[in-house]
Order: sequence, then structure tokens, then C-alpha cells
Amino acid sequence: MTTTRRNFIKNATVLSSVAAFSPHSFLAATQPLKEKLGIALVGLGYYSTDLLAPALQLTSHCELRGIVTGSPEKAAKWQQKYGIKDKNVYNYDNFDQIANNPDIDIVYVVLPPSMHREFTVRAAQAGKHVFCEKPMAPSVADCEAMIKACADHKVHLAIGYRCQHDPNIQAYMKVGKEKPFGKIKMVTSAAGYFDGRTTHWKQNKALGGGVMGDMGVYALQGARLATGEEPIAVTAQASTTRPEIYKEVEETMMFQLEFPSGALAACHTSYGINMNYLQVNYEKGWLKMEPHSAYSGNNGSLSDGTIINFENKNQQAKQMDEDAFAILNKKPLLVTGEEGLRDIRIVEAIYKAAKSGGRVKI
Ligand code: NAD
Repeated sequence: MTTTRRNFIKNATVLSSVAAFSPHSFLAATQPLKEKLGIALVGLGYYSTDLLAPALQLTSHCELRGIVTGSPEKAAKWQQKYGIKDKNVYNYDNFDQIANNPDIDIVYVVLPPSMHREFTVRAAQAGKHVFCEKPMAPSVADCEAMIKACADHKVHLAIGYRCQHDPNIQAYMKVGKEKPFGKIKMVTSAAGYFDGRTTHWKQNKALGGGVMGDMGVYALQGARLATGEEPIAVTAQASTTRPEIYKEVEETMMFQLEFPSGALAACHTSYGINMNYLQVNYEKGWLKMEPHSAYSGNNGSLSDGTIINFENKNQQAKQMDEDAFAILNKKPLLVTGEEGLRDIRIVEAIYKAAKSGGRVKI
């Protein structure tokens, strides 16, 4: 118990030091800034409109300079709202001309998942760094092609896993790594919300829909990040309570993971249920987070009384700033294409397991 307590205090100190890892203090402590990188958002739907564009008004190392959209009406509104120059507005057909535009350093792909590969490859061919939203793509083959295109054209590829930039998530990753409560026995994680739409890409297989890739990756990441391990086998069950809407893709997926250390995970994701939590049971204690993958307010506690509740002013601003900073200063990116691929490899195994009803080795 004494050792555990000592480890906890050490750990608590480490956790407090994570608090200092806010974008501003972290970046201010490093070398002087060279310049801002220009970002072009591709796809001006919900996430670009409500989260990324507002976040880009708060960033220090990158800024919104361009847009790529199929809608001239949207383009006009965005130009007016964000002062975007005519020469930095593209549609999906003339997008490749972005190669000749020195204002744009990074193309951020915020389209339905089935389009991530095409626009990542075209951006790489245009010599632009790529930020790509999750899920990285519908298949492992797509992810591999995206990684290859970026490597071939010597540009960076970052996946929009905003949570990995959140000090609260970094705190539970640290507990998993340092193991103050012994081995991990069981992880339970869930990520879902009620989606009332009926004809969105999320319900369309050809566009990369299905809850597993969209929300399921948060439940999966919870288990992977909390254990710091990669699963070796999965079982899974897909279901729907609204078959009239979820004709092509699953509304709900429950999946179970086996890790090399013997840790197990029971994960849930759904478009029909509001849920967002993570629980980790160790040999000698537990960690609970609720929510664990929200835009803000991810917080939780450990069985010894430690509270995880770091301030995180704007997750998306921190993510884009840290990635831009890494590119500017030739530092490694926090979440690369390889990390996106790790999840999709497991997602493919989960679909295979749900279809066969059996245990699928990874
Ligand atoms: P959305 O449906 O609101 O927007 C999608 C955009 O793509 C729209 O502007 C639409 O016009 C455009 N589009 C172009 N071609 C299309 C086609 N053939 N079919 C449908 N739309 C087409 O979706 P969203 O919620 O903004 O999601 C976009 C991406 O961002 C997805 O990969 C999603 O998973 C991701 N996302 C990430 C987070 C996060 O927290 N990281 C949150 C929300 C969405």
C-alpha cells in the first residue's frame, strides 16, 4: 500500500505537470515562432463550420486562409465571415490548382470518410501537408495509400484525433503507462449519441458511414490509450433498433478486445444512445472518466482520490496549433497516419467478427 501511495504521489505530480501542457505555455516555452501556416478546409459541413473555423480564430501557428467547397453560396458566406481571398477559394474539380498557391501550406480534409483518401492523395500530390479527419478512411487499403502518397510527396499527414491533444486524455494515458495500481484487468468504454437524421452520410455505406468508424473509434481509442497496448483479438456484435434508417450500416456496435497483457476491454458505440465514459479496473484500483472524449470537460477520478480535470480551452485549436508547430519546427507529429491506420485495422477486424460471429485475431 505504501508503495502504491508513493507512486500515486509521484503520479499526481506528473499529472499536475500535464496541466502546464496548454498550447500557450508549452509553445511559449519553446523557440521563437517563424510564421503561421495557412490552412484550407475541404468540406464546409458541421465540423468545419461549428468547430474548426472558430478554433482557427484562436490559433497562433496556423490560420484559416482557404476553403474548398462544392457550394458557391457557402463560399461567399465564408469569404465574408472570415475574409478569405478569391484566389484561395476552390471547388472539388479545380482543387488541384492549390499546388500553385503559396498561401496554403496545409489542406484539412473534413469530408465524409469515403472521400478522405481521394482528397488526401490529391493534396499530397499538390505538395501540401494534410490534416485528415477521423475515421482516417473506410479501409486499411485506403489508409495505406494515403500514408504512401504523403511519404512519396514528402508532406506530413496528421489525423484529427483531437482527444490525444487533451491533457485529460494524456493524464489517463500516463496512468496506463506508469501502472501505479498494477496491471490493467478490464477497460469499459463507450461513445455514442442519438442521431435523428435519416439520410446523412453516417447512414450511407458508400460514403463511409456506420457508427463504428465514426464514434466507435473513440471507444476503441479509450481502450488502446488507457492500456497503451494493441489488441490481439476481437469479438463483436452489430445491431439496430431502427432498421428503416440503418439499412446499410450498423446503428450500434458492441465489441470486445483482448490485449497481450491479458487485459480485456468491453466497448460500446451507438447512434441511438447518449453515452460517453471510460472505466479502467486495475489490480489495485480504478480510473473513471465521464465524459472521456467530448470536445471539453473530459474529467474523472482515480480510486486513490486523484482528480483528473485539466482546463482545455479549445481542443481543436490546441490540436491544430500543436500540429502546425510540429511541422514548422520539424518535430514529430502527435497523431500520424500510422495511428489512424492502427484503428482502421482493428475496425476492419471488428466488422469481420460481427459478420462471422467468431473471434478474429489481429
Ligand atoms: P457534414 O455532413 O456536416 O459535412 C460534410 C461536408 O462534406 C458537407 O459540407 C458536404 O457538403 C460535403 N460533401 C461533399 N461531397 C459530399 C457527398 N458526396 N456526400 C455528403 N457530403 C459531401 O459532416 P461532418 O460532421 O462535418 O463530418 C465531416 C468529417 O469530420 C467526418 O470525417 C467526421 O467523422 C469528422 N468529424 C470529426 C469530429 C471530431 O470531433 N474530430 C466531429 C465531427 C465530425
